[in-house]
Amino acid sequence: MPELPEIYNISKQLDHEIVGLSIESILIHQEKCINYPLVEFSNLVSSQMIQRVSSIGKWLKIHFESGDKLLINLGMGGDLLYALQPPTKKHQAVIYFSNKMLLSFRFWWFGYIHFVKKNEPHTMTDELGIDMIRTECNKNDFVQLFDGKKGSLKTFLLNQKNIAGIGNYYIHDILYDAKINPTIKINNLKPEKLGVLYDSILNEFNTAISLRGAHYEVDIYNKPGEFKVSKVAYRDGQICQCGTTILKIKTGATSSYFCPTCQK
Ligand SMILES: [Zn+2]
Repeated sequence: MPELPEIYNISKQLDHEIVGLSIESILIHQEKCINYPLVEFSNLVSSQMIQRVSSIGKWLKIHFESGDKLLINLGMGGDLLYALQPPTKKHQAVIYFSNKMLLSFRFWWFGYIHFVKKNEPHTMTDELGIDMIRTECNKNDFVQLFDGKKGSLKTFLLNQKNIAGIGNYYIHDILYDAKINPTIKINNLKPEKLGVLYDSILNEFNTAISLRGAHYEVDIYNKPGEFKVSKVAYRDGQICQCGTTILKIKTGATSSYFCPTCQK
């Protein structure tokens, strides 16, 4: 599943490629992923001029000159490919641009392509929390997010309404780098640890962005990312650099990989 670094990378690539182009047409094979009736959706999107492309967390935003937007989420995973021809594999949608290039959408399971008119709300993205790379958020702002909060720290971090963009791949090494146990409750966390966590998230994301995202995801040119090294993520049974065996445990609905010595 793509997380902040992959979506950020895709947004930058799209911003480079499609700004200034207009949309000639859009072909939708899976109507469930759009938020208007098919013909209306197609009419709303066609002829729109692209002004810029941005992202928030795991969502991509294509901003049109009109002020309208196209909001895209890859859900459990998938790819967006910028090419001359649509993929031969099954895909759910294709946007054709004025330069004869196209963007194909292939969701592994389910994704969203939502059209939002200028100044209209869009609950799924309006409720998103801070994007650690794009939002102005200093250490104090970050620490304040946890004010009066209880419950599992990991659940809090994965909730997109708090922080947008952290998912089940990067979370493990973020907690490892901050030397925080994945089972800890927010109210049991020493305040200074939140500052360490802030640095750890930024460091992990900036490193992954500089390597164009995770090795198992592809960019718009179908090129995989180069971020490969994990410290504990998906390495259960292997040895941490401290010499302890990395464990995998169930934490709520998800699994956690961690080192019981480094992350007491
Ligand atoms: Zn260790």
